[in-house]
Amino acid sequence: MPLNFSDLRLADSGFGRPDYIMAIDSGTTSVRAIIVDEYDCIVAQASKPVTTFYPQPGWVEQDPMEILASQISVMTEVQFKSGIHSDSIAAIGISNQRETCVVWDRDSGQPIYNAIGWQCRRTAPIVDRLIAQGASETIRSKTGLTPDPYFSATKIKWILDNVSGAHEAAEAGELMFGTIDTWLVYNLTGGAVYATDYTNASRTMLFNIHTLDWDDELLSLLGIPRSMLPEVRWSSGDFGRVSGEIMTHRPRIAGVAGDQQASFFGHCCFERGDTKNTYGTGCFMLMNTGDEAVDSKGGLISTIGIAEGGSISYALEGSIFHAGSTIQWLRDKLGIISDAAETSQIASSVPDNAGCYLVPAFSGLGAPWWDPGARGMITGLTAASDRATLVRAACESMAYQSYDVLRAMEADAGMRLSGLSVDGAASRNEFIMQFQADLLGIPITQAEAVETTALGAAYLAGLAVGYWEDREELVQNHGRGRRFDPAGDAGEMAHLLSGWHDAVARTRTVIQ
Ligand code: ADP
Repeated sequence: MPLNFSDLRLADSGFGRPDYIMAIDSGTTSVRAIIVDEYDCIVAQASKPVTTFYPQPGWVEQDPMEILASQISVMTEVQFKSGIHSDSIAAIGISNQRETCVVWDRDSGQPIYNAIGWQCRRTAPIVDRLIAQGASETIRSKTGLTPDPYFSATKIKWILDNVSGAHEAAEAGELMFGTIDTWLVYNLTGGAVYATDYTNASRTMLFNIHTLDWDDELLSLLGIPRSMLPEVRWSSGDFGRVSGEIMTHRPRIAGVAGDQQASFFGHCCFERGDTKNTYGTGCFMLMNTGDEAVDSKGGLISTIGIAEGGSISYALEGSIFHAGSTIQWLRDKLGIISDAAETSQIASSVPDNAGCYLVPAFSGLGAPWWDPGARGMITGLTAASDRATLVRAACESMAYQSYDVLRAMEADAGMRLSGLSVDGAASRNEFIMQFQADLLGIPITQAEAVETTALGAAYLAGLAVGYWEDREELVQNHGRGRRFDPAGDAGEMAHLLSGWHDAVARTRTVIQ
């Protein structure tokens, strides 16, 4: 039985205020553990890469046991590195790669197949069948999601359909499904807690984001028995104590959220309209839409953004496939830069883009265009175009793409943004951030901590145990990085945007 929220408060525990929160971030390419103090300072961290397997084109898998073992190893490493051990850790928060699916045997605890990664496209035929059956609207209205192999549901079905005896075992209640958070919580608590949180559940395509329960109609559509689904809990609350074999003093896991939602919380996007954009390999944007799950007309999805303190904030989510990866392409495929960090200076070395645009539709166009057949294009080249022209066009493309998604969010939500919080490695690029502020006409604020995702998980855990009193205290403590104020000329920005949209139109295979 989960404890009452108040039972978790440190004030009631009688052992004073331990000094630190541990956050673990189980990412796609690496797992991390960090230790945070009450002023949000990251005192220590450790990380380890995770292997990804590509057994066939478009298939992506990871080994759940490797993820677990690496996670435990970095949790141990960070304690030894810092000299801060489990008796000084008030609580643990978990953030994780979302949608990735693990199915394991209830008795042995052994996975019956590798984890199927969020990027894996093998279930496209299952999704096509759902769409052909006319299930899109049901899925969209209940889950806020557009049917896609990305989400967990069809990955579970694939495992049940393809692992010998799995359907029968599932029907007999012998199998357990979990996203990575659930897999970690189950194993870190020695099997005592089988649970996920609302944010992770909202990415499975099986969870009704309005009733806040697994949806029987969707479960029967996919032939997935309810018995193989975890209990769904608030992101900030009790997820059990870590087993004594892993941490001697058995700190409590008190926060769980999917990585983008954890980062959203780490940015303190608590109010309706608050929006964050993470500039990494791709871009991930989330806008807080308060208690309304907005039905997007602009090709975005609705998801549970925050599930803390007894209330839900929904969010609109949009993503861009190629952002920082365009810079990587300049380095690795064209060889015109040697390091991503030099692009800000190179882009600023020319007065303007000289009419050159780079549309990085390397794998189609995402929101708000949704044109999978589109391919990349560079327009407006002249004999004077050089390396700086291309670098500038690549940097600008990150800002234009984010502009398009953010404007689609504003239209869906019926709100204008008043500011944007940013993180991710490419958010350190001063040229891109200033250009983004100019284009949007609003201030952009960098996160002070690079590890916003882990910080969000720490916040969720810390609030649950009273390490931090309330959201107000988090906002007070929250360190903000550099702010970029808009300084662009409106006419010039409109001209640039029209050049960009002209270039995008030329890449399209779907003419609307
Ligand atoms: P992820 O979490 O998506 O793996 P990161 O947040 O570490 O990624 O971002 C890595 C990406 O950011 C890489 O694709 C890299 O090319 C890009 N990048 C890193 N630094 C810069 C920079 N200063 N300017 C532009 N892009 C950058």
